[in-house]
Order: sequence, then structure tokens, then C-alpha cells
Amino acid sequence: MKSQRLIVANWKMNPETPEAAREIFLATRRVGDKLKRTETIMCPPAIYFAGLAKLASKKVHIGAQNLFWENSGSYTGEISSTMVKSSGGSHVIVGHSERRELGETNEMINKKVLAALKQELTVILCIGEKERDAHGEYLSFVKQQLGSALSGIQKKFVENFIIAYEPVWAIGKSDREAMKGSDMYEMYIYIKKVLTEMLGREYAETIPVLYGGSVSALNAEDILNNGHVNGLLVGRQSLDPIQFKDILTIADAQVKAAK
Ligand code: PEP
Repeated sequence: MKSQRLIVANWKMNPETPEAAREIFLATRRVGDKLKRTETIMCPPAIYFAGLAKLASKKVHIGAQNLFWENSGSYTGEISSTMVKSSGGSHVIVGHSERRELGETNEMINKKVLAALKQELTVILCIGEKERDAHGEYLSFVKQQLGSALSGIQKKFVENFIIAYEPVWAIGKSDREAMKGSDMYEMYIYIKKVLTEMLGREYAETIPVLYGGSVSALNAEDILNNGHVNGLLVGRQSLDPIQFKDILTIADAQVKAAK
């Protein structure tokens, strides 16, 4: 298990200008560079990607929000894993629920995962159910998402793999509606169990599991502490450098407390 905290910033389709993107990036880098045990992965829209990648540092990395599985060709509007890599990116979010909502299937996600790993990009795979049910069917749903995304991956690539559990019902809400740390811990155990069945214990243990869904400075500590996760995927709050600074500082302090 990695002792590092990983905090992923998903800017979604924001901000509206490259100047604003640069400002947010630099403000966060000033904080992220000082943190001892936390790595920050900033995922801006593709159009800002190459410009911001030049500003990445040892502790503040750049990731894409999506990619296509072919390296080049007639795929209007897409970007490839080779483009992400050669433009200075180290990570990519795959399977975000907002992309699944636009028609991305488990099969497409698996192709994207394999293409990204081949380029030695670190994949941040998003999984999570749309809703909870009393019979626990959401657990099989999550298991299927995981099984399908991981299909055919070579174990040597496992170290380039991060899972972000993002229950869709918790994304884009208020922090009060986010998952509680203790509930996240149950899910964390379940995800590790599924990974152990798929890859064996040794590999399963090395894969970091993050939580995403309406994280703020108010709930970050509970989720990190009681959820036992390795980090967070932060959407809207990552666009506000003041709020995001608080989240990053809490994450780094939590690692120190756990030592
Ligand atoms: C996300 O975009 O993955 C996300 C978790 O968003 P938010 O933090 O805004 O809910």
C-alpha cells in the first residue's frame, strides 16, 4: 500500500479562459509543491492541456479527462494516449460517470484503459453505481464495471492503476449529501475484495482507491480518516484554489497523523 495521498482535480469543462486555467493551476501548484506526502493530479480540459503540462512539477502532475483508444487517425474530436504522453501528461481519467452518461460503455472503457497503460500513463478508473438499493445490487454493478475495465490488463501495469470510487448519486451535490467516511470504508473493503479475486492479494493491495463525489474541506477529513481511502477525486471544489488548498492541506495532515 502506498503511503502517499493522491488528490485528483477534475476541472470538468471549466474554466472558460486559458488565463483563468493558468491562474488556478499556479495557485494550486504553490500549495501542492510544499506538501510532503501528497501528490496532486490536475486534470484540465484537453484544450489547456499542453500549456499547463509545461507548468507541472514533481508533486503536481497533469492528467487528461479522457482519451481515445487509437493512437491517430480519423477520429474527429478525440485525443489519444500518445498525444497525452507526448504533451507532458502522466495520468488520465477513464470512465467518468459524465462520459458514461454520454454513451461510453464498459467495453469502450476497457479499450481506453489498455491504450493508456500501453503508453505507461497512470489510469484513474472511475467506477460507481447510479443509485443504492436494499438488496445490494449496486455491489454487483460495481464489480461488473471493475471486471470489465480490467479485462486483459497485464499485471505488470497494475502499479499504473488508481481506482476512483464515485457513486453517481453523490457527484455534484452538497457536501452533506456526499458519502460518509464509515460507508466509504465498507466500499473500500468490497473493492479490495473484488480486486483480490481478480488479480490476487499482492497486486490488489498496491492499487490505490480514492473517493469522489462532493468532496469539500468540510468532509475531506472524515472520508480520508474513516473511509481509509488513499485519496480523493475532487470536482467543483478543485476550481477554487482557496477551497482546494484546504482539502490538500487536510489530506497531507491526515497522512502525518496516520504515521
Ligand atoms: C467529479 O467530477 O468526479 C466530482 C466528484 O465532482 P464533484 O466533486 O463536483 O461532485
